[in-house]
Amino acid sequence: MRIAEIRARLRSLGALPLHEERVLRDWVRAMPHDRGRRRPDDFLPKRVRESLPLIDAELDALARVLSTHPGEDGSARLLVGLADGQTVESVLLPRDGVCVSSQVGCAVGCQFCMTGQGGLVRQVTSGEIVAQVVLARRQRLVKKVVFMGMGEPAHNLDNVLEAIELLGVEADIAHKNLVFSTVGDMRVFERLPYSRVKPALALSLHTTKPALRERLLPRAPRFDPADLVEEGERYARLTAYPIQYQWTLLEGVNDGQDELDAIVGLLRGRYAVLNMIPYNANPGLPFKRPGWDKARAIAAHLHGRGVLTKLRDSAGQDVDGGCGQLRARALDGAPR
Ligand code: SF4
Repeated sequence: MRIAEIRARLRSLGALPLHEERVLRDWVRAMPHDRGRRRPDDFLPKRVRESLPLIDAELDALARVLSTHPGEDGSARLLVGLADGQTVESVLLPRDGVCVSSQVGCAVGCQFCMTGQGGLVRQVTSGEIVAQVVLARRQRLVKKVVFMGMGEPAHNLDNVLEAIELLGVEADIAHKNLVFSTVGDMRVFERLPYSRVKPALALSLHTTKPALRERLLPRAPRFDPADLVEEGERYARLTAYPIQYQWTLLEGVNDGQDELDAIVGLLRGRYAVLNMIPYNANPGLPFKRPGWDKARAIAAHLHGRGVLTKLRDSAGQDVDGGCGQLRARALDGAPR
């Protein structure tokens, strides 16, 4: 169910826009309708009020937690079941964040990503995206939502933007704490500047070399990394939040001095943060994780040359559940 359909259903029961907002606000804040500040009983039209148990049951059926995999870093990976039996992954992040999936599978086919190996299965609806946030909120405080789970948000733009608008307006989450992550797609740069809620942007760079980028991200739009940075910079200046450039550090692939020199050329002086994330090894994929000391030295080197660089670990990597692995194991029927 898309959020637009939930709204239409409420309207068919006689709800006015303020009633829709109230029902949706209670949902995204994971707040039972009868809790919170006191509201007169007759605030919602009678037919809406009488239908609330059914509507709540329908919203609850959008997504449910099938299994939880806590990590030592305070994160937890969730395998989430959707109503048609498909599964996606969400991650409860340390420091009050949640990472959500925007597609079942993904068409971009990044060579180092488990999700990319199986192709796209289907889009995740805006209702199912918000439902992942609601599931997270039932477990802990959520002040930040990152669209970095399974899928490429740019390939499901209508649903993702609909979810972002609801979260930005009703969920009490600062717009800069909604993070749209993409490999780079012109449609993102055309639409995000005009959206009511403008999220922060994370751009997956991974290399400064166009030919290597084509190999690593075989079905991503053909963006020269330099052009991607130009587009990112424009959006950063418009929103006044820095662009987060994502760099999955792959040993022997994109961790050489030539790349570091080119990063400095591309990013020094930009309104940007470079997130260096040592690769989370996937059995069956031919990439290696560089040692932590080497990763730390790379980050320090870039920082010293004027590129604001943060070394990050992908959350919960100790539970062996990198993006797509939980789902892959569930599909195999392997014990979880
Ligand atoms: Fe898709 Fe992201 Fe995996 Fe690339 S890394 S295949 S964009 S889910």
